[in-house]
Amino acid sequence: LGASPKAVTAYKKLSRDLFRYPDGSALALRQAIAKTWKIGNPDNIVCGAGSDELINLLLKAYAGAGDEVLYSRYGFLMYPIGAKAVGATPVYAEEKNLRTDVRAMAAKVTKKTKIVFLANPNNPTGSYLTKKEVAWLHRHLPPHVLLVIDAAYAEFVDKKDYSAGDELVKKYGNVVVLRTFSKIYGMAAVRLGFAHCSPEVAAVLNRVRGPFNVSAPAQHAGIAALADTAFLKKSRAHNA
Ligand SMILES: *Cc1c(COP(=O)(O)O)cnc(C)c1O
Repeated sequence: LGASPKAVTAYKKLSRDLFRYPDGSALALRQAIAKTWKIGNPDNIVCGAGSDELINLLLKAYAGAGDEVLYSRYGFLMYPIGAKAVGATPVYAEEKNLRTDVRAMAAKVTKKTKIVFLANPNNPTGSYLTKKEVAWLHRHLPPHVLLVIDAAYAEFVDKKDYSAGDELVKKYGNVVVLRTFSKIYGMAAVRLGFAHCSPEVAAVLNRVRGPFNVSAPAQHAGIAALADTAFLKKSRAHNA
């Protein structure tokens, strides 16, 4: 399906301005994201060069040697890879029928656990946890543990019992929801994703990220993609 034609046009237009640095705060993009996902304050959003960069920044900020990073057996592979890269120990919980088992996850939490990663829906299994199950998992985590819900495929889900987890971010300081423009928006090449998180976590991510981590073409194409609801609708219907 490619990317939104509006995003492609915005990307091409930016070619005239390649000599300029991007806006280091990605303000216009964060405002557009806040509007689309009904996130009251753009300061609760940090953009990254794909959600992969945000996974790595969270690990860099919150985990290191002697710490454990928890994920589900067949969870997204960047979690254990990124954990190892910062010297932390990846720990997995077993699944049931290729589905994250929240009880098994909670049972694997120790004093050393710093981050719990949950891809919801998960890649590569395609299974998802209900809003209730995710809330249960969060309730059974100590407050010092960060729950990172990676909602890369959230737009494709049409089940009523699913939530990407934004309501948990609004209520609790230790929940982060990650999103990407690589999947339904078809923009994997530009590298664009974002974290919805508390202002405290955002402040930390803003200190550890590079000052120009999201390119100008990515920012402009991202804004244009958000405005193209027809493309989003078509992609969702095609996939269904
Ligand atoms: C594709 C994918 C990502 C990474 O997406 P980028 O934004 O392209 O870095 C993260 N998490 C999951 C579950 C994915 O499938």
